[in-house]
Formats: sequence, C-alpha cells, structure tokens
Amino acid sequence: MNILILGAGGREHTLAWKLSQSSKLNHLFVAPGNAGTREVATNLPIGVNDFEAIKEAVLENDIDLVVVGPEDPLVNGVHDFFLNDAAIRHIPVIGPQKAGAELEGSKEFAKKFMMRHNIPTAAYQSFTSETLQQGYDFLETLQAPYVLKADGLAAGKGVVILEDIEEAKKELKTMLVDAKFGAASTTVVIEEFLSGIELSVFVLTDGEGYKVLPTAKDYKRIGEGDTGLNTGGMGAISPVPFADDSFMDKIHERIVKPTVEGLKKDNLPYKGFIFIGLIKVGEDPKVIEYNVRMGDPETEVVIPRIKNDLVEVLEAVAQGRLNEIDLELDPRTASTVMLVSGGYPEAYTKGIEIKGFEGVEDSLVFHAGTQLKDGKVLTSGGRVMAITSYGNDFKEALATSYRNIEKIKFDKMNYRKDIGFDL
Ligand code: ATP
Repeated sequence: MNILILGAGGREHTLAWKLSQSSKLNHLFVAPGNAGTREVATNLPIGVNDFEAIKEAVLENDIDLVVVGPEDPLVNGVHDFFLNDAAIRHIPVIGPQKAGAELEGSKEFAKKFMMRHNIPTAAYQSFTSETLQQGYDFLETLQAPYVLKADGLAAGKGVVILEDIEEAKKELKTMLVDAKFGAASTTVVIEEFLSGIELSVFVLTDGEGYKVLPTAKDYKRIGEGDTGLNTGGMGAISPVPFADDSFMDKIHERIVKPTVEGLKKDNLPYKGFIFIGLIKVGEDPKVIEYNVRMGDPETEVVIPRIKNDLVEVLEAVAQGRLNEIDLELDPRTASTVMLVSGGYPEAYTKGIEIKGFEGVEDSLVFHAGTQLKDGKVLTSGGRVMAITSYGNDFKEALATSYRNIEKIKFDKMNYRKDIGFDL
C-alpha cells in the first residue's frame, strides 16, 4: 500500500514513524515533511493546501490512502476535493469533509453542535458587529474572567481571556469592528469561564464505529509553571493520571458517544480523528473545543502507545469496518518534551544547526521544524524537535527524555523543564 501524509510537523513525523513499521506499507510519502520524515518516507515539496499538486502527486505515485495531519486543508475542503474529482474519488482520505471540519473551523458551529446534542460545555452566546451592544450586555451578565473567542481559525491565537469588563468590551469591539483576526473574528463567541484542569481525548471514527485512543495532557505556555505566552505546545503526557475509570466513563457516555452519534444525526460524514479538548470541572468533564485532527505534541505520546498496525487501523477506517479492530495499548506512560528556538513564540532565528540528536538512546526523536541542508539538520521553525520516552509512570518517562535532551544542542535551544509539574 502507498500512503501520503499531508503536513510537516512532529505530528506527521510520528504518524510516518508508526506507519513505516507496517508490513502492509509499500511506499510512504510526506508532503512537505521535514528532516525527520525523510528518514522513513519520501518528502514531496508540496504545500498542504495545494490541492491540484496533491492530486498530481497522488496519481503519479499510485497513492492508495491519504492521511491529513493539520486542520487547514480539512477546513479548506481537501476531502471534498478528492470526492469531487473522478480521477481520485476512489482514494480514501483520513480526515473529515469540509462540513464536519467546521467543528474546528467555526467555534459557533461547534457550540451549536454541542447544544443540539446535549454535550456538556460552557454556556455561551455569539455576536457580530451588528449585535455589538448585545455583546456588551451579555458580558455584564457574566462573572470575570471573560472568555472571547474568534469564531474562525486564528492559528491558536483567537481566544482572549480578560479579567476586566471594560477591557473585555474593548476587545470585543476590536475583534468585531476592527477585524482583529480578519474574517475569523466576524463572529465572536463569548462564553462562561470554566475553572479546572484540562486534558484531551482522541477518538478515531469511520462515521459509524469509533475507538477511543489514549488520553493526553499538553503544556501550552512557553514558561515554567504554565506562565507566559501560548505556544503550539511544549510537551505532553499520556495517559493522564487523573483520568481514572469513572471519569473516563463520564467522558465516554456524555461526550464521545453523543459526539459520534451527533455527527451521524446531522449527516456529517466523518472518517478521521476527533480531538476533544476537555476541562475537568469538579468531577465532571466539559468540552472546551473540538479539533478535527490529532494534536501536536499529543500525537507524539498517543501514537507511540498504540500497539496495532496503524496501516491496518486506517484501512479499516477507510473501509468503514473500524468495529472489527481491537485496539491494543501500551500500558506504559509516554512523555514528550519539545525543544524550541530561543525567542519562540515571538521572533526567533531559523537555519541553526542541530547537533547530538543521533546520540539519543531509549527515546524517540520526532522532528517538527527541521530541514536538511547540505547534509546538516537545521532548525526551520519555532518548535524544533519532540523527545518522547516511555516509563512506568510519567516521572520515569520524563527523566529519560530530559537525560537525552542533555545530548542535543543548538544555539539558543529552549525547553520547559517542568512538564507534568501539576500532576
Ligand atoms: P488551540 O490553540 O488549542 O487550537 P483555540 O484557539 O482553538 O486553541 P480553545 O481551545 O477554545 O481555542 O481555547 C484556548 C484555551 O483557552 C484553552 O485551552 C483553555 O485553556 C482556554 N479556554 C477556552 N475556553 C475556556 C473557558 N470557557 N473557560 C476557561 N478557559 C477556557
């Protein structure tokens, strides 16, 4: 079987690493990939939103299955593009069609979906520039802090949480009237602030059946103790120690089942991953957000804990027989620590040589922002590499990651030394 993965991050390197272990795999391609994916696959210099070029590559390389890593091409309709073209219609795409991808592409859509299917989430209302005054009035009915969310995709920056009501009103106006996030903030969702600890649950569905994949907790802030600016993610742990059986039962019954059922009831065909961002409020789970793909760096700890042949699993998704698969999980904990460029998530320098990662032992090195140039591996993004390790518990797993990180060097390398600090 020939498989094409779309994307270029640590998530895609992890998927490529896992798929490349399958005896069912013939040839693996990643577009555009990074210096890590080229060790296990052929990189193709194609952007994830260049659908015509993707089609050409799919035909030229006799691709049998496409796995979409990031959300952008899904929200832009890459799956629909395949379905609407007779030459490639028969090639299965793992990732929802545009209508289902709205669960991530529009926060208002996701909130309406949850309300319709009785899925626990924060109370909310949404506003446009025409209803700005009603937005101010709604803010007056809430307690601080105030949560304002740009409806559309805003590269993880579209959520603003403010303590002061006057500032919240000003922010609402900036989003709606001054288009702070462009078209993404034409509509703004204002919601009740939920207080608790966050975790993520991943579901793989073929639209009928589904499998709940391992849970994970990620660490988004740049600074230790969860301080400073938000990043794409600085580390992750799977499973989440506080997600015990009774809590998982609640997640399953109240959230996972109604989500998959809801997709069916709403006639939203969905073959792919659902990433459910949750918050534990008291003893109850509530949904913060849906994403329509795997998370990064959560993939770097979730996928290594799946023992099954991933090609077989994804084939079953494509053929609508996921129920026939028994998911086998590694009972060990996996942790990952992300090495980032100095300055990230603000301005940083690219093109710095990375040394020493070949000497890593007992850890997996998943490349994110790296590229190969003149035989050297250079940084090419803010998040550079994820160092994943197994252990009997998260402390043991992390100790191995941190021990190996000592061997890796690049100028201004930065990473959080306190992943798991709150567990
Ligand atoms: P991501 O970068 O994860 O894609 P996003 O921009 O899609 O995020 P959300 O996940 O909805 O936005 O929110 C970002 C973060 O803001 C959450 O991880 C959470 O910490 C916080 N947050 C969002 N909604 C709430 C809420 N109702 N109460 C408390 N915190 C919230």
